[in-house]
Amino acid sequence: MPSQLAVDDISVAFGGHRALDSVALNAERGQVTGLIGPNGAGKSTLFDVISGLRKPLSGNVSLNGRDVTRAGPARRARHGLARTFQRLELFGRLSVRDNLRVAAELGPERRHAGHIADEILARLGIEHLADTTADSLSTGMGRLVEVARALAVRPSLILLDEPAAGQDVQETELFAGLLRTLAADGTAVLLVEHDMELVMSVCDTVYVLDLGRIIAAGPPGVIRRDETVLAAYLGK
Ligand code: ADP
Ligand code: MG
Repeated sequence: MPSQLAVDDISVAFGGHRALDSVALNAERGQVTGLIGPNGAGKSTLFDVISGLRKPLSGNVSLNGRDVTRAGPARRARHGLARTFQRLELFGRLSVRDNLRVAAELGPERRHAGHIADEILARLGIEHLADTTADSLSTGMGRLVEVARALAVRPSLILLDEPAAGQDVQETELFAGLLRTLAADGTAVLLVEHDMELVMSVCDTVYVLDLGRIIAAGPPGVIRRDETVLAAYLGK
């Protein structure tokens, strides 16, 4: 079976600055794949390339064996791709349940949007927040609801850009469980996250990006002892 996501030889330049330099990476169904690296390494830029918001200079992106390099964001979404952004983008005046329902109406089962919203609330154990308006949530809960909303379109691949930023310990724990559940349901999860403890505890594979290049990839146990990775983080 092909990888749910296969990225090969991706390069991006901003002016003369090379933000990504021949990046290759895969994400598999049933796994949480981590993408870490210092600020400015190119993580969000890679997400833009994967989701079709930025055209690369070179390289290919495939979803489940289908080349989508020339496809726009909407077509990629129809092939099962969902993402969250570094900035929160919920509908502030709508309730949590309505935020999920609106998203579900964009997915393949739009006639059952209300049902999907309720099912996700239950799955995440946040039924008690159903009627809360999004802008009265804590930052951490807002992040969780953002992921819940991405799930409402039934993605086969989900890209999460620093979803745990602003979460307290309890929210992060809830979140780690959610990521494992997602993977267990067969979704491929690609996670950009600064919380190393979260990355190392939930990921099956971790890629390390530094100055636009993948400098290491492997299981968390290997990555956390990798000399090159330590040097990149500690500034050599
Ligand atoms: P990360 O998400 O790993 O922190 P980014 O992908 O946001 O890194 O940025 C990678 C590099 O590209 C940085 O040097 C950043 O300044 C630059 N960059 C990102 N977006 C733009 C843009 N729209 N225009 C010019 N430079 C950009
Ligand atoms: Mg970023």
